[in-house]
Order: sequence, then structure tokens, then C-alpha cells
Amino acid sequence: MRFVTGFLYIAQLFAGSLAPIAQDRGRFTDSAAFLDIAGRRPRPTRNDEAKIEALLRQMTVEEKVGQMTQLTIDMVTKGKDQNVEIDPSKLEKAIIKYGVGSILNVTNQALTLDHWYRIIRPIQEAAQRTRLKIPVIYGIDSIHGANYIQGSTLFPQSLGMAATWDPALMQKAAEISAMETRAAGITWSFSPVLDVGRQPMWPRLWETFGEDPYLASVMGTAFVRGLEGDDVGSGKHVATSLKHYVGYSFPLSGRDRTPAIIPEHTLREVFLPPFASAVKAGARTVMVNSANVNGVPGHINKHLLTDLLKNELGFDGFVVSDWEDIKKLVSYWHVTADEKEATRLAVMAGIDMSMVPLSYSFSDDLVDLVKTGNVPLSRIDDAVRRILRVKFELGLFDSAIPDMAVRGGFGRPEYSATALRAARESITLFKNKNSILPLSKDKKVLVTGPTADSLISLNNGWTYVWQGSEESLYPRDKPTLQAAISQKLGPANLAFVQGTKIVRKPGSPSNNNPTNIDQEVDIDAAVATARRSDVVVLALGEGSYCESPGNIDDLTLPEIQLKLAEAIIATGKPVVLVLIEGRPRVISRIADKVDGIVMAYNPSNEGGRAIADVLFGDFNPEGKLPITYPRTAGYFSTYDAPTFGKFQNGSPFSPQFEFGFGEVDRC
Ligand code: BGC
Repeated sequence: MRFVTGFLYIAQLFAGSLAPIAQDRGRFTDSAAFLDIAGRRPRPTRNDEAKIEALLRQMTVEEKVGQMTQLTIDMVTKGKDQNVEIDPSKLEKAIIKYGVGSILNVTNQALTLDHWYRIIRPIQEAAQRTRLKIPVIYGIDSIHGANYIQGSTLFPQSLGMAATWDPALMQKAAEISAMETRAAGITWSFSPVLDVGRQPMWPRLWETFGEDPYLASVMGTAFVRGLEGDDVGSGKHVATSLKHYVGYSFPLSGRDRTPAIIPEHTLREVFLPPFASAVKAGARTVMVNSANVNGVPGHINKHLLTDLLKNELGFDGFVVSDWEDIKKLVSYWHVTADEKEATRLAVMAGIDMSMVPLSYSFSDDLVDLVKTGNVPLSRIDDAVRRILRVKFELGLFDSAIPDMAVRGGFGRPEYSATALRAARESITLFKNKNSILPLSKDKKVLVTGPTADSLISLNNGWTYVWQGSEESLYPRDKPTLQAAISQKLGPANLAFVQGTKIVRKPGSPSNNNPTNIDQEVDIDAAVATARRSDVVVLALGEGSYCESPGNIDDLTLPEIQLKLAEAIIATGKPVVLVLIEGRPRVISRIADKVDGIVMAYNPSNEGGRAIADVLFGDFNPEGKLPITYPRTAGYFSTYDAPTFGKFQNGSPFSPQFEFGFGEVDRC
């Protein structure tokens, strides 16, 4: 009777009925009730409006513009990798001379907690030496845990979290992520990603909660509540940044940062709801879409930023640009002749803080624009008021120096159990012909394929480095899939043969295809071993990627992986296909010929264990697809597919595995 839940769900989905989602879960049964509680803005614990106005009255134009400026860490540090340290003269220029209000990012790789202290502390001490002692807000991409802090707890990427359909678990994961981020003295995370994933080629699909606006709203709100808590200033929480507002995830070309065409009604029905819910829940900041919707770059879209977000939705936090996006208005979108005019348009459209992040051009231009009357002081005051409000709420004015006491909340053993639970709950059973699963522990198993022995594939981007691609930074004690199966079966019953591998082009990631390259290793050896085995676990999918370096031209699984799969299938041995991937790579050539298919998404460091638990019957798979899995590469999501629903009473949510296997076993 194992696997009943998964089978029933899949069977119902294929039969075309839209199953009640959460009633059988015993954990959380009513998404509307969850939203009602988690989606309510917490009662304010403080009111600093008078102090904010008093500060504004004292501030010069330069000081105000400084608050609106965000620079990257390299602008105040020297050295690389693990040798990065504050550069006192750069720090002086940024914080004292320019009065910069925010710093972001890592130089290139995750640092230890102690190392973060050595960075954050002097930044805040420098801010204390400025005339008005306004603290700095430090921002970082804690995307699936505090992924830029060594030793932190990492959770499945959002697409996998969405497959759990478990918002309470999402909230818990975000709470841990907040605690571990704050433990480093960092008070702001650029998450959650609330873009609705409707374009399967898009290299950021795995950062989303999938294609359904309602599911993304519930999970996104859970993420916000977890990160911000009921009191974002409690010392255990951080401010969120809802991103990337709005329409970023639907590029016509499938490539990152390329234009979308989205009629207003579709924008409101499909892409806006997760942002609207999260704003209602009190989210403190919003990051803007780097691309272009209906011909207008996100960063100058006054209708979306001011009329809709601030006025209609009542957002009272601040809006931050994405990376270098005011400069890109000139260099990429060509909407203005120079950066000063781009700055004027962006600030007037509603940008409150510019992630410049590598120069002082924004500050210099904006001061000049204000002094020459081209940007009214009232707009600047509005932006600064919003930024100061968040700094007060975070408690930064009370104490900005990292609190050693919060370190107790870092890296607790029970956090890994939550991550393992999330990974297990995310895994989605697609196919189980003749009850091939669960596999017996005393059969001889061949594990093969490019993702079978890769923590990089299990994690994907935003893991220790932006691209997730630095093998040496991964923990030694987290098993890959083949290692986890070996732990379960003992080495006698397991053979691992690589088959094919995924390598990265040397050098820094480029925006040109392909960043990841599939290579044959030993397909013949894999086939020979398959013949001597009882069953084959074939782990295919993707390497790590993030943003434009993850662009692809074809959604189909790479030819070399299909070659391995077909060679293994030709042996006639039963095959269970495990997909470890950030987007639904097309598997039509092999899907009908394998016996089992398990989708693991990017389950992160506990993923090897979690997949092994599912394959061998130690955990009943109950994940549910948050995206449509296309049969062909020509698939393109329709605008009007799912509309809003409620988990508990027959959601009209309609993603499906497009293969519709008749043989799904009902147990
Ligand atoms: C990404 C954002 C991210 C920012 C800061 C940008 O390239 O689009 O999602 O928050 O960098 O790292």
C-alpha cells in the first residue's frame, strides 16, 4: 500500500479530475486559512514616523541620495575568495564621503560567519562616524537558505518547495534561512522570487514556485512570513525583497532578461497575484524586473511601479532596482542617450534605491538632477522615507553592529532534518509501471547518469557561488544520490558507473550557449554493468546555472544523455529515471520506455538521501507538479491556463505531466 497518495493524485490528474489537494496530508489542509493568518500584515511593534521626519529635515540632498544608493561589496573591500577584507580607504569613500545607504552581495563565494562579522562590523562602524549616524542595510541573496554563509542549512530550490504544497514547511524553512542570515549580521534578503513560471526554457524557472498564481501566492506569502516573522526587528528575522516585479518570467524568447508581451488583464490575473499577496502580508521591499514588458523596461515603468504597486496595492516599503539596471537602460535597452536621463526616468517611475552597484554615477547624477530641479525633492523624500522606515523596523537604529547572541541560531542539527523533510516532500512520482517502485533493497542496482554523483546538480545556482558551480565549496558530509543509495544498500549491491557527465566551460560564466556541456564518459561500461544488474537507476537532468548563463536553445534533454538512456533501455533491464533539473527538459524519446520516473527538481544537500528514501520505499512520494511537464519542446504555456483556486476544495490548478501514462498504478 505504499505510495497510495502519489498514485491517486497522479491517476486523478491524468483522468482529468482536479483532485482536492491537501486533505490527505494531515499537516495543513486549508490554504485559505493559512493565507488568512500568514497573509495578514503583523501589527506594528513601533512607530518611528516622527523620527523619520526629523531626520529628513536635517538631511542634505547628498545625504538623501546616499541613502538611495546601493553598492556591491567590492566597492568597500579588497582581495578575493576567502581573502576578502574591508579596504579602509574604499570604505571611507563609500560610507563617509558618499553616505551610501546600502551594500550588497559577496565578492564571489560564501564566507564563514566570523568572516561576515569582519565585513559587516566595520561597515556599520563607519556609518556611526557619519554626521547623522544612519546605519547601512546590507542585502544578500539568501535564495534557498543562507546560501552565502558557509555551514548554513540549504533547502530545495523554490520549484521543489512548491511541489511540497506545504506552506507551513515553506514558512519554517524561511524562518531558518532568516535566522542564519541574520546571524551573520545581514538584515535583508533578496527573496522570495515571486515570478510566475510560465516559460519552461527560462533559466530562472527553478527559482519560482511554478506556473500557478495561487500556489505561488500561498508559498510566497509563507516565505515572507518566515523571513520577516511577526516582528522583523526581533533579531531573528530579515527584510524580504519580492522579485522581480513584474512579468520578468515570461520572456517570449525563453532567454533571461528579454522582452515579454503581457496584456494588462493577464498581468493582473497571472503575474501580479503573488506580489499582491506578499505586499498585503507586509513585505518590506520589492526588486524590479530587469527586462521589458510591452516594450517598456521594468525600471522606467511608472504605471507598474508607482500607480499599481505603491498606489493601488498600497506598498509602503521601498523599491530597489536590480543589478546595474539603470545603466542598462542606456547600454542594453537604449531608451535614453545617457545615464543621467536614465536615472531621472527610473527615479520618477518609482525606483527608491539603485543597485548601481559598481560606481558612484547614480549618486553624482541624482544629486545634480535634484539641484537643477529635474527631480523634485518630494520624490527623493518619499524614497528616503521608505528606506529609513525599513531601517527603523529592522532595529538597525537601535543596534546595527551584528549581535553575537544570534549566532546560537545558526547551523542547528534540527535544521537539517527540516531540509531533509522538505526534500522528501518535494519529490514527485510521474510513472510507476508494474509497481517497479519501491525498489527492493536486496536487488543488484546500477546507478548511472550525469546527475547521479553531483551535489552541484542537486543544488543548482545560488549555492556558495552565484552559479552554484564550485565543487570545492560543497560540504563533504552530504551524500550525492549514488552515495546515498550506497549507504542504504551497502556497496555489494550497488554499482555506480558515471555514463556521461556535465562540465562547465572554463572561465567565468558567459551569456552564450552552452555554459554546461554534456560529455560522454563510459556509456559502454554502464551498459555492460546494466546487463549484470537487476535494475537501473538512471539519473539525468541538468548541471547548475543561474540567470543568463543558463540560457538554452532547446528544452530537449541533451543528446548525449538521451544516448546513454537509450543504450541502457536497450539492455531490457527495468529502468527508473530520476530527473534532477531546474526546468522540465523534454524526455519524449525515453519516457514511454522506462518503467519509473521520479522528478526531484533541485532538492539541495539532503536531496541524495531524500531521493534514495523514495526509491527504496522509506518515504512515500507525495510531491505534486507545480509546472506543466511538456511532451514536446515546442510547448508554450498559454496565458489563460490556471486561474485562482483553493487547495481545499478542488483547485482549478492544472499543471500536468503531459504524457498521461495509462499504466499509473492505483495500488
Ligand atoms: C539578479 C537578482 C539578484 C541580484 C543581486 C541580479 O543579477 O537578477 O535576482 O538579487 O542580482 O545579486
